[in-house]
Amino acid sequence: MMRRWALHWQILVAMVVGALAGIALNVGAGQRTVELTKTELAGRAISFRSEDSLDRIHIEWEDSSGKRHTWQVDPSRRTEGSLASLEQLAARDPVAYELFMQFGQSPARYWGQTAKRTGNLFLRLLQMVAVPLIISSLVTGILGLGGVARLGKMLGTTLVYYIATSSLAIITGLVMVRIFRPGLRYPVPLGSWEPPQTTSRLGEIVWQQIETLMPSNPLGAVIEPNFLSIISFSLIFAIFTLIVGGKAQQVIQSLFEALFEVFMAMTKAIIRLAPLGVFFLMLYVTATQGAALFASLAWYMVTVFTGLVFHAVITLPLILLFVARVNPWRYANAVMPALLTAFSSASSNGTLPLTMNCVEERAGISNRTSSFVLPLGATINMDGTALYEAVAVLFVAELYYGGDLLFSQQLLVAFTALLASVGAAGIPHAGLVMMLIVLQAVGLPVTLQGVIIAVDRVLDMCRTCVNVWSDACGCAVVERLLPPDK
Ligand code: ASP
Repeated sequence: MMRRWALHWQILVAMVVGALAGIALNVGAGQRTVELTKTELAGRAISFRSEDSLDRIHIEWEDSSGKRHTWQVDPSRRTEGSLASLEQLAARDPVAYELFMQFGQSPARYWGQTAKRTGNLFLRLLQMVAVPLIISSLVTGILGLGGVARLGKMLGTTLVYYIATSSLAIITGLVMVRIFRPGLRYPVPLGSWEPPQTTSRLGEIVWQQIETLMPSNPLGAVIEPNFLSIISFSLIFAIFTLIVGGKAQQVIQSLFEALFEVFMAMTKAIIRLAPLGVFFLMLYVTATQGAALFASLAWYMVTVFTGLVFHAVITLPLILLFVARVNPWRYANAVMPALLTAFSSASSNGTLPLTMNCVEERAGISNRTSSFVLPLGATINMDGTALYEAVAVLFVAELYYGGDLLFSQQLLVAFTALLASVGAAGIPHAGLVMMLIVLQAVGLPVTLQGVIIAVDRVLDMCRTCVNVWSDACGCAVVERLLPPDK
């Protein structure tokens, strides 16, 4: 009889096969040049010409009045006046976009995008169960704690863990920048000093977070969905259920336990599809990324990557070993399906149902701990993102000034990187969006972000994996410090 492979092996193999298929497409079919005449275009334009090379797209077309339209799409924005993405092209010149999508795409781009859509079906399924799973799990977990005092302790311990590990990650990032000096490896600084305009933005971020914790419309938060608002409302709801107690508590508790059981069963079924989802997502990434971009930002990528590896392989395992007292190797094995899915999907929210399942069923952590630590962690504990924010901003600062930021500014980067990581949603590229805050905090022009956008997907995959790993380690720590049976 054939033995089934363990899930993490299935996912790993799917990941490697998907990546290899994508690389083969990228190398073998990543380029395409077309020139079409009026007849071939069935009168939609007089002529059309495009060159697609994954790194850069060049499009020229002539409309019926004889006007020529020329576009460059270059994610690294190295060419003057170029657009950053095909979405921008679609908004600026829908005809050019349509013609390119129909005739100009290289096979690698075409199959890559199709793979993305297919892989996203798996993510959609996970997202479908994420919100009901979080709510039912959180309410069940808190009601199971039996008292508000214990909840306070749990919240305290969890927050201390989040802040401590994110700060360690940021320090690692700062040290890596000092070691590799990625931004000083380019010949000319891009600009000169501009005074920082910091405080108002920082205050604003803190306010926004506080407001998010108090959703004026809890249903709206579910529909959006805004995880932080959902968590805080579920927490308040569960606390008041405990306070009211008696019959009401009994009814609510058994209702939510039943719901949780059903949603967990749905999650398990969806998880079976993880190898397929991961295969398509990896194929998409490797088929559609231009290799030349990576070469030009290699030092920056090496710096982020080394920092992330250090945090994931040294810092967090040491915490597991000495604080949680569990074997890091075995624990990593248990949560491997979640880590691999986080890597391929670049979304910690999307991975959350899988993380919960792995932590509870494969690592043996109690639902009381995981239902509390994981949803909160997926939203606010992002060690990988915090490290990445710090490195990316110092990198562009070095690139811009040709030297270091002042120590006080580095501190400001560290602090804002922490806030930005808390504020970033657990979805792809959220860290990139939040980086604007860090750039503004130290007075760097936000346009500098354009330099690093092109390689963000790959770094996003790595940092999301670290984000989820840190959440999982947090469960082991909290479980150790506050065992469920005491
Ligand atoms: N994609 C990351 C996550 O889901 C957030 C980020 O962009 O850093 O955890």
